[in-house]
Parts: sequence; C-alpha cells; structure tokens
Amino acid sequence: MSFGISIEASTNKKQKPDPKNLVFGHHFTDHMFIMDYDAGQGWHNPRIVPYQPIALDPAAKVFHYGQTIFEGLKAFKKADGTVITFRPDKNFERLNRSNERLSVPAIDEKLGLEALRQLLLIDQDWIPEEEGTSLYIRPFVIATEAALGVNPSQKYLFMIIMSPVGSYYKEGINPVKIFVESHYVRAVRGGVGDAKTAGNYAASLKAQEEAHERGYSQVLWLDGVHRKYIEEVGSMNIFFRIGGKVVTPALSGSILDGITRRSIIELLRHWGEPVEERQISIDEVIEAHRNGTLQECFGTGTAAVISPVGELSFNGEKYTIQDGSTGELSKKLYDTLTGIQRGIVEDSLGWMIEIK
Ligand SMILES: *Cc1c(COP(=O)(O)O)cnc(C)c1O
Repeated sequence: MSFGISIEASTNKKQKPDPKNLVFGHHFTDHMFIMDYDAGQGWHNPRIVPYQPIALDPAAKVFHYGQTIFEGLKAFKKADGTVITFRPDKNFERLNRSNERLSVPAIDEKLGLEALRQLLLIDQDWIPEEEGTSLYIRPFVIATEAALGVNPSQKYLFMIIMSPVGSYYKEGINPVKIFVESHYVRAVRGGVGDAKTAGNYAASLKAQEEAHERGYSQVLWLDGVHRKYIEEVGSMNIFFRIGGKVVTPALSGSILDGITRRSIIELLRHWGEPVEERQISIDEVIEAHRNGTLQECFGTGTAAVISPVGELSFNGEKYTIQDGSTGELSKKLYDTLTGIQRGIVEDSLGWMIEIK
C-alpha cells in the first residue's frame, strides 16, 4: 500500500558532506516527510517534499507547553548496495506509546514505516558506506495549534528528517567517564520519563553541563524518590556485569524502554548468558566495585550502540572499572550488534528490515 504519499522531488540537490568527517546531526538529506493532523479530520496529506524550513505561529503550543515526541533510528547500506534498517517497527510502536502519554493522536504505524521506506529510497545516496557510519533518522511530532491555554493541541505535524552520521568512536570503541548525579533528578514514576519527549532532555541539560565542567561526559541518573536506585544515562540505558551476571534496571516507568537495551537482553539470552532486569542501587554497584565483582559497565543506545564506562564518580569518590578499558562482553556485544547492522554478521534474531 502506498497510503497516498505524494512526492515532490528536490530540483536543487545539496552537496553531500565528506563521509570521513561527519559531525552527529549537522547535515540533512535532500527530502523530508511531513503529514498534518487537524481535529475532526485526523492525520492527512502525507507527503515527501524537499528539505526546508517550516513556518509556525508563535503561539504554537509546542513552544509553550512542550507537547512533542521524537524517535531515533538508523539505516545502513550493505556492501552490495542494499539499504537495511534496524528494528524500525519498534520505533513506531514506541512513538505511539509516547504519543499516548502526551495526549497526541496515534499515527498509523504501517503508514509511518511506508513513509520511511519511500523517504529512504529517494535519499538512499545519502547513506554513507564507510565502516561505522549510518543514516540517522529522526521522526517527530509537534503540537502546532496557535492558542495559548493548557490543553491538548487540535493540530499537529508529524515529520521525518534524516542525517548522515559518522562513527561514534573516532579511534575505536572508547570507555567514557560518568558522573553519578545525586542532586538533580531526571524523572519520577508517573511522569514522562518513559516517553521520548523534549521535556526530559531540557530537564537534563544543567546536570550534564555541570558534569562536563567536572570532566565527565555523561550523567548517571538515580531515582527521584530515594536517590538510590540506578535509572539510566543521558540518552542511554545502563548495564552492569557483576560476578558473571548481567544486570540492568527494570522498566519501572521512569526510564526509556530502549530498543538497543531490549536487543542486548535478547542477544545475551540467545547466547545463554544470564540477564537480570531488576532494581539495582548505587550502593550495590559500589559494593561490587569494593569486593572486586564489578566486571563491566556499559550504556546502550542507538547513537553509540554500546558505550563502555571506564569510570564512575559518586559522592566525591572515583571508581575505575576494568582499569578504564573496554570489557570483553562489551566488546563482543558491540562487534555483534554493529556487525548485524552492517549485514556482515548473521541476523539470527531477524532484526534487520530491507528497504526495497
Ligand atoms: C533514546 C533513549 C535511549 C535509548 O533508546 P534506543 O532505542 O536504544 O536508542 C535511552 N534513554 C533515553 C532517555 C533515550 O532518550
């Protein structure tokens, strides 16, 4: 089914950036997808048009009340030129879970996938082919009704834009230093921590800035009630390997249900490795470090895939993990998942979707 998506091809193709010097999210492809919603009419007029600015009324609700959702996923090009995407169906499912939480009308997931398929086909020359590079895809929804007053918008735009991105790691996979945040909190159960919505990120900037000033690249959030249980990192979920067992915080309602997180759990279980999804306190992690059972720690997310953690800072103390180097399991997971994504490791769990 085509879903009646109209296409206006760009007549003014942009110059593509050097694939060796791609900065995350700075260059955009020649086209974008856009669709309108009006109360009474539903979602309508799905179209692919040349990438361009949009005009919005200054009273558009998104500017004032943050009613907006985003997603992030990647497409890759195999050596034979085939375009493949990593579990895009999961992103459109999650988009609708976020929409539901923010009172945004649901988007037909099949239409979303078809829009993505057509957009990828028209801009497939933008998918970089160098090892470690990919095309980052950003679907998002904004509330556009021009009216001040706190209630769900009567108008929305759904768009998909795409950006060629380089390898997250310039010189191979590199451990990061993480600051365990005990002053600011990100989200609480019952809030919007499990939705991919702008407010969560606006709320995190101050803590991230202060962590940077202290020499740390990211913040590890603790729960907002007890300031004790581990939540997640920036835009990554977090895993620990303690005494041979992999542990990650359970989906409690205040963290994001990461598709990379889910994939890592499925991959580990497929390998027969024990994985526990449960509450884990910072005290348990520190104790494991003290008694020598904390073997590895890594973050998971679409951008970095796997990000090993080489150091944690908590309450003024520094805790080095794996002598600050990449753990064996982190490396194996990174190589396997990126291999599956590039089409050079067998996709035994059926994650990659070919675009044709
Ligand atoms: C996007 C995101 C993640 C990672 O999700 P993936 O689907 O694996 O990319 C984790 N935490 C937060 C807060 C996020 O926004």
